[in-house]
Amino acid sequence: MASADTVLYEKDGAVARITLNRPEKLNALEDGLLEDMYAAMREADLDEDVRAIVLAGAGPSFCAGHDLGSDDPHREGGGRQALAREMQTELEGPERLFKREQYMYYDQSLWHRDLSTPTIAAVQGWCVAGGLMLVAMCDLIVAADDAKFANPVLRQTNGGAEILVEPWELGPRRAKEFLWTGDPLDATEALSCGLVNRVVPRDDLDAEAMRLANRIALTPRMAVQLTKRTINHAMDCMGQRSSWEYHFMAHQLAHWTHEAAELTREMSRSDLTAREFIKERDARYRAVQEAAS
Ligand code: ZN
Repeated sequence: MASADTVLYEKDGAVARITLNRPEKLNALEDGLLEDMYAAMREADLDEDVRAIVLAGAGPSFCAGHDLGSDDPHREGGGRQALAREMQTELEGPERLFKREQYMYYDQSLWHRDLSTPTIAAVQGWCVAGGLMLVAMCDLIVAADDAKFANPVLRQTNGGAEILVEPWELGPRRAKEFLWTGDPLDATEALSCGLVNRVVPRDDLDAEAMRLANRIALTPRMAVQLTKRTINHAMDCMGQRSSWEYHFMAHQLAHWTHEAAELTREMSRSDLTAREFIKERDARYRAVQEAAS
């Protein structure tokens, strides 16, 4: 069962509600939270009373992405639980990162996508990078009208998150602009390109996600589960899984390019914190945007 702090687990009739509960960090995904979330999903999936899972985030934003400050299982206090313990390794450099990201992000994301029980993400505020990858693994997405989706990791040289969901979610042209500029999509734009199923006022988000879950719960269980399986299989027949596998390898290369090394050098030379560095980086993009308008 998930621990009571970083992830909340509640059952309401046939619906399991899993809430990321690190609002002070905008629910940034560190190892302990990921482990608790996947444990909660497993519990819900094995519970025969549960017919739908709602995945929500406490506080003003659904998820700020991977927690870059605390996701190293070798860091003291980081990766505190069993999942991270399994990741203990003597490997270093590219080999270590490859193993870690394959295990922590790639394999578990696909497991989440293929969970038998239907999953519905309820998204408000920011949903960034690893957070976008997370909601893309859910079957349905309900967005609040204040939701903003972004993946600005190319601004830091890395070629998208570990799984490149964007071409599938946005189409190739929007995906390229989205990734190359790092600019966010608001809820209306997300709806227009099919990234989300519906947009509702912020105050109705929880109720709407629950309504949708309860309606799915009325449909015979195996009919729902088999259809999920065949639709996911259809995506794989169209090449989704194979394109993700290819991108994962490109993502690994992007960690070790000269430009990535140069960025790391630049960051260590400056006396800015990572947060200040990112703020300064984003200000350059805003300045170009404002100069052009
Ligand atoms: Zn990576």
